[in-house]
Amino acid sequence: MPESMSLSGHTQMVGVMGWPVEHSLSPQMHNAAFAALNLDWCYVPLRVHPDHIAKAVRGLAVLGFRGANATIPHKQALLPCLNWIDPPAQKIGAANTLVIEAPAEGQEPPRLLGYNTDAHGMLAALRSHSLVPGQNIIHRVVVAGAGGAARAVVWGLAEAGVTEVILLNRDLPRAQNLAAELAPTLCRPLPFSTDALVESVRSADLLINTTPVGMWPHCEDSIWPDSTPMPSNLAVFDLVYNPLETRLLAQARQAGALPVDGLEMLVHQGALSFKLWTGLDAPVDVMRSACLQSLR
Ligand code: NAP
Repeated sequence: MPESMSLSGHTQMVGVMGWPVEHSLSPQMHNAAFAALNLDWCYVPLRVHPDHIAKAVRGLAVLGFRGANATIPHKQALLPCLNWIDPPAQKIGAANTLVIEAPAEGQEPPRLLGYNTDAHGMLAALRSHSLVPGQNIIHRVVVAGAGGAARAVVWGLAEAGVTEVILLNRDLPRAQNLAAELAPTLCRPLPFSTDALVESVRSADLLINTTPVGMWPHCEDSIWPDSTPMPSNLAVFDLVYNPLETRLLAQARQAGALPVDGLEMLVHQGALSFKLWTGLDAPVDVMRSACLQSLR
């Protein structure tokens, strides 16, 4: 907790629900933003078992929380807990931001609203490296993973106008459902294997890792095999941001490919969540610095 933070009965509470949640930098990022804007708000990590997401959401409302983020593996499971879902989140089929509308005096329960800020964060991260899907060099994309984050990624890529998405997932029916629901003409689902990955990137401009492979504490893991050099004309975007340079990104750097880390996406998805809760523009530079400081 920042030294300057003092909690009271007036403090507005938000948090992040995850399993695990220990890797999340969102508490440091949002608390730094609240402190920078002198807001009496506090953001806490919430370790929620997958079986208890609905109870946890009801609990947050009862406890007077103003909202929460949902991270791995809760983004899809959050939807049935909500009273209203923003159309992009509905289409994506996953929400990463819960807004709990403060009830009027004597009126309860509060309304639970769901949004998805991941697609916005993903496109902002790519733009920060001059990668604009559907324009310049980004037409064909390989996406590894078909979970909650992948749904936002594929939806964002389809909205941006890319030509083709190859979607690799261990659980093939999950990838097939994602493709059928979000981008049937664009998206080719295939079973995940290192051979399929290597073969798919041959004709791709961008590889996006939406699996947690390589995330702390399993930092030595990578979806890319050591035995095969990565194409040097590829851009490689890893949604994992802890560590900042994952093994996959180190492999990309060593091959002369363009590595894009998950930090900018984290900051921009967080900035939009911040605005949804507080109504204020987020101090993006403060949020980025807080994350970088925590990662050192
Ligand atoms: P999720 O819903 O649990 O989905 C995880 C996906 O990864 C599933 O498709 C799963 O495949 C696949 N997967 C898991 N372990 C794998 C392995 N060992 N090999 C191959 N595939 C594997 O999780 P999520 O919410 O999408 O989050 C995924 C990652 O993205 C997390 O690390 C999260 O921190 C990160 N993320 C970062 C940002 C950011 O702002 N930078 C935003 C969102 C998410 P199966 O379906 O076959 O199980």
